[in-house]
Amino acid sequence: MRNPHAGEPFELSDAVIARHLEDLSVPALLLSCVHLGETEEERRAILDGPLRPQGIYLNEYQGFMSAEDQAAARELALGVIARWRDRGCPEPDPVPPAMLEQMMDWAACEDVGADYVPMMLEEMGLDGRDQRAVEATSGAADYPVVVIGCGMSGLLAAIRLQEAGFPYVVVEKNAGPGGTWFENTYPGARVDVGSHFYCYSFEPADHWTEFFARQPELAAYFERVMDKHDVRRHVRFSTEATGATWDETTATWTVHLEGAEDLVARAVVCAVGQLNRPSVPDVPGSFDGPSFHTARWDHDVDLDGKDVVMVGAGATGFQVAPTIADRVRSLTVIQRTAQWMFPNPGYHDETGPGVGWAIRHLPFYGRWFRFLIFFPGCDTGLLAAKVDPDWEPQHQSVSEINEMVRVMFTEWITSQVDHDPELVAKVVPPYPPTGKRTLQDNGSWLRCLTRDNVELVRAGVDRLEVDGVVDTDGTKHPADVVVWATGFHVNDLLLPLRVVGRDGVDLRESWGTRPRAHLGVTVAGFPNLFLLYGPSTNLASGGSIILASECEVAYAMSCLTMLATSGKQTIEPTQAAYDEWYQRVQDEVRTMVWASPHIEHNFYKNADGEVHILNPFRLVDYWAWTREADPADHVLA
Ligand code: NAP
Repeated sequence: MRNPHAGEPFELSDAVIARHLEDLSVPALLLSCVHLGETEEERRAILDGPLRPQGIYLNEYQGFMSAEDQAAARELALGVIARWRDRGCPEPDPVPPAMLEQMMDWAACEDVGADYVPMMLEEMGLDGRDQRAVEATSGAADYPVVVIGCGMSGLLAAIRLQEAGFPYVVVEKNAGPGGTWFENTYPGARVDVGSHFYCYSFEPADHWTEFFARQPELAAYFERVMDKHDVRRHVRFSTEATGATWDETTATWTVHLEGAEDLVARAVVCAVGQLNRPSVPDVPGSFDGPSFHTARWDHDVDLDGKDVVMVGAGATGFQVAPTIADRVRSLTVIQRTAQWMFPNPGYHDETGPGVGWAIRHLPFYGRWFRFLIFFPGCDTGLLAAKVDPDWEPQHQSVSEINEMVRVMFTEWITSQVDHDPELVAKVVPPYPPTGKRTLQDNGSWLRCLTRDNVELVRAGVDRLEVDGVVDTDGTKHPADVVVWATGFHVNDLLLPLRVVGRDGVDLRESWGTRPRAHLGVTVAGFPNLFLLYGPSTNLASGGSIILASECEVAYAMSCLTMLATSGKQTIEPTQAAYDEWYQRVQDEVRTMVWASPHIEHNFYKNADGEVHILNPFRLVDYWAWTREADPADHVLA
């Protein structure tokens, strides 16, 4: 069978191909041409030639190549591709492993490092195999599993359980799959990780119409993947799980459902997400008009010509405001803390027809494009997030690299609004960069704030009145509609599920304000329970949460495989492994900017100022640790 990434044959004219090439990333295009070389010399001629990227940077798809070099590279590629077309588009011979490593170094403009190569190869699956697929597991049929949630992680778990042969049911409170991408339909909702990377490694997508897809395309993607993998018939939509209780005598979990019969299973995968339960601050007073949280957007409320007050502006509000500003009469944004933003001029760019065509037809183009998005954003962000205790002043930046980032971000912000010193004073954050989630910016946010009908208020909310919102400076902002862009109950993991494990222990009660799980997935005293996107798995400085989920699911499946093949009843982490992981996470996370006492408000911290939701380690390490469960860290009984 032809390698699915090797390109479907085509018969386009040179002129049409040339038009498609205009839409492409030149480094990824040249790497595709390396695959097309018929001899080692032809391949080397490209890799050793003068047309090459000059640097790698997040969302910089052209590798800083000059316009002349890009044009010359496209011309070279057109010749290679046309000759391949004329030969009937045969499947290219595999590139030897040593050359693949050189191709990575070429794309990265640096030695990618021996530890990254296997992860990147697995992620890209250049041999056409889904290298994270799970083999049929003997004994799996005896271990029915309930998956709670059919968002990105729950769907992934379902696909892997199906591959392995575990009987499973997914319960999902919503009427469709996709979780956050099903629920967040607010105007302007789009992903801020490049779409060609923000998709499952084994289900790359050639159909994204924008480089950072909007919510409807994402929701459609998860529907499509669900159907392609024949998961739908296992999902009970509009069915909410309220909790799960472990029965030691039968070694089963009973999953309790709202308004439906309990389900009984040998294992539970809990995939309810971290950004799932909207948080609306409890402020006194009441407002008489329409009012809703962004994750519960009321599309029946017409905003045209209305006075709108939006409270909060993190990642969500940042997308909402520019999208609605030209429809409303006035928009008041009450934003307690300014946000750092990352320059990404192409944030709203369309892909053009060439990108989809290239992913379908040019061997491995999509795979190398994924590499170009993934590698520069993988772990380098951690360097800027690490606190140097000797660095001063800590309230401004936490290390030399962090200071460089602060200067760069500050220049990006001020360059857009330097004509308005009052606004500059409001929008340049007074805390170290990357301490809160950094937002992608193409200028739309600050452009929106300079509109005559938009006002940015740097304050909190004091109270509601029937016809407006009063801020903490005492100013009243009249409103026809109030929008709460105030985020989620991120630190109340699993809320409102009641999960009761061995000896009647309630999981959320036992955690208190300190949720934890071994590798973010398994919990001592809660056998056969697997959390996805659980404690210490969120990413604050790069990568994609889909990759993190693929790691977590690999680890969970490895545990389940160990269980099923052993024929035993239960698997759980040893107390020692569980405690050691927690300590290791806490020791590391305390050294990161997210825990800085100079950041007053930050959803990464719990009420005690501690961070329990973030993964402070390199993704490449987390990937290595989760590939296979270590039997020494587990108790099988
Ligand atoms: P968020 O980043 O937590 O922002 C919440 C906003 O509400 C902040 O401005 C916050 O102010 C404010 N706020 C919270 N409580 C408040 C209170 N009591 N009084 C006044 N203001 C208050 O929430 P979000 O914007 O919904 O984003 C959450 C996460 O969702 C993101 O970090 C990201 O992971 C994900 N997300 C991703 C995308 C994307 O991929 N494009 C888009 C949207 C969301 P402070 O800053 O002062 O706390």
